[in-house]
Amino acid sequence: MNTITGFTQNRKHTPSKEQLLIIMVIVVYLFGTLIHSSGSENSDKIAVLGFHNVVSDQVKQEQYAYNMWVDSESSFREKIAYLHEQGYEAWTLKQLYEWKCGNIEKPKKVVVLTFDDGYKASETMILPILKEYGYRGATFVIGSNLTNPKKADSFLSLNDIRKKDSTMEYYSHTYKLHYRKNHKFAVDIVSEEQLQEDLIRQQRIVDCSYVAYPYGHYNEKMAAILKEHGVKMAFGYHENRKAERFDDFYRIPRFSINAYTSLDTMKAMLESD
Ligand SMILES: [Zn+2]
Repeated sequence: MNTITGFTQNRKHTPSKEQLLIIMVIVVYLFGTLIHSSGSENSDKIAVLGFHNVVSDQVKQEQYAYNMWVDSESSFREKIAYLHEQGYEAWTLKQLYEWKCGNIEKPKKVVVLTFDDGYKASETMILPILKEYGYRGATFVIGSNLTNPKKADSFLSLNDIRKKDSTMEYYSHTYKLHYRKNHKFAVDIVSEEQLQEDLIRQQRIVDCSYVAYPYGHYNEKMAAILKEHGVKMAFGYHENRKAERFDDFYRIPRFSINAYTSLDTMKAMLESD
């Protein structure tokens, strides 16, 4: 009897190791749930990341050591591997569009990977790395470069973008408005007719369902023309925040990721709310 009483008392006042473990598991679970529910993963926002060029580590060191828009292969791979390790999915622009339209819901962890300017690297360096991780991306190409033999070494050709590989999709970065004059953006100085002509010319050779503004610089006049000509979404680099479901379709913000963007900085972007 004493033994039983003792046992009962023992259970009541001094929990066994197993009981302590169960209590700890419950506390950790509840705490985790609390953090989780207030975390960025549950918010209805998506980080759209914008990259540029990627070259081998050797070329980076020899030719582009101080060029922030040219990332090295190892640094780029580290960023993609991090997304993969953390369980992020990479959505296509069509999926982003469907989500913005309210047709699909986003998974907890999702990003959109975009690449500006149409460097050869999109096909030779970036595409194989994305493929390795089962990711998909979109490159915004400058139409006039696609058929320019002088640019053939550094930029994609028309043939390159017509190859069928669902890993990389190609959309528009304007036909020939990717320049600045007297510190002004081309899209701000050309006429409405020129903006329109540029888009029509680009539509003949590139899928213009989605457009990235040159330098991420947005203007009202161009947005209206894009809308009028059937473009579904357009991207800038303004605001340095995630895209929201109710953002203007022609003013979707992206995070700029360059050679100086550390993993910690990228992590802060991904976890921002
Ligand atoms: Zn650009």
